[in-house]
Amino acid sequence: MLCPICQSEIGTVEHLLFDCPWTKAVWFGNAINLRVVKGSIPNVASWTNDLIVSGLPKDVTMQLLSRVATIGWYIWKSRNEFIFNHIPVDPSATLQCIAHEWAERDLLVRLSQNSVSPLESPSPEPPSAWSPAAYGCFKINCDAAFCHRASKAALAAKAVQRIHRPSRPDSNTNG
Ligand SMILES: [Zn+2]
Repeated sequence: MLCPICQSEIGTVEHLLFDCPWTKAVWFGNAINLRVVKGSIPNVASWTNDLIVSGLPKDVTMQLLSRVATIGWYIWKSRNEFIFNHIPVDPSATLQCIAHEWAERDLLVRLSQNSVSPLESPSPEPPSAWSPAAYGCFKINCDAAFCHRASKAALAAKAVQRIHRPSRPDSNTNG
């Protein structure tokens, strides 16, 4: 059966989660910045197992698996919203849900470790892996969305260059 979203590939689990074009922006646009090459994940179970035995520290692995599971869950939810409620897939909206979920989870973990007082808890902020470009370099931030049914695609890109060399606060030579 063809994928109901792109209608161009068989709707396997691997396609729905990783290879359907709209999901690429979701995997890349969140804090783990996973760039999925089409066909590079032929089996979700073995890919997950590879993560587990990758040799990363256990806490890092657990956090990574938790994040991967959250991303997969929200991609699945978006796919179901598309099929059952005819809501177009929207990578930006899915990313916002993921960021919100992570921020809430991080806050709960900090609260459970008593590192934050409930009354002083800041509002959840979406986590970000973005960092400024090094001096003399530039970065291109981009995101894309695609709706097969409406035959519409959108791509946004923004070049960011650090023009000013970071200065030390005491480097003012006046006087
Ligand atoms: Zn598809």
